[in-house]
Amino acid sequence: MEKQCDVCENTLKIDAWGNGTCKKCGWNNDKYSTSYPNAINPPNFISLNQAKRYFKLGKSFLPTYPQFLNLVKRGFDFTFKFEGKKYQLSVHNDYTLWEIDTNNFVSYKTFSEFKSNFSIDGVTIKDNWDKIKSLQYDC
Ligand SMILES: [Zn+2]
Repeated sequence: MEKQCDVCENTLKIDAWGNGTCKKCGWNNDKYSTSYPNAINPPNFISLNQAKRYFKLGKSFLPTYPQFLNLVKRGFDFTFKFEGKKYQLSVHNDYTLWEIDTNNFVSYKTFSEFKSNFSIDGVTIKDNWDKIKSLQYDC
C-alpha cells in the first residue's frame, strides 16, 4: 500500500498498520501522529505539526533539549554520539548513561537529578545539545 507523506506529500510505501518512513523527508508516518498531530510518540522525536514547520524551514526532525528531557521522563531509552563516542541512556529505576563498549557509566538516581546534572566528561549537555549526534530510540 501507498500513501502521501503527512509532512512533505511524497508518496511512500506503508505496511498493514499504516506505518512507513518517508524517504524524502525522513518522517515516520503512523496513524498515531496523524490522529494526534501535536503529540510526540516514537519513532518520531517531534510532533507532526512541528515536523511540517521544520520541513518548510529545512530543519531536521530532532527534539529540542526540553523535548528530549520530556521523552526521558516518559521512560524512553536512547543511544547517541557525543564527541565521537557512543552512549546509551537507560531509564529504569534510575537514569544510567553508559559509554558503549566500555565499563564507563554515570547513574542519576532521580529524573530531577538527571535534569539538573546531565553531563559527559564535565560538559553540560543542556548547553551543548547541538553536539549530540545520531540520536535514536533504543528499544
Ligand atoms: Zn515526507
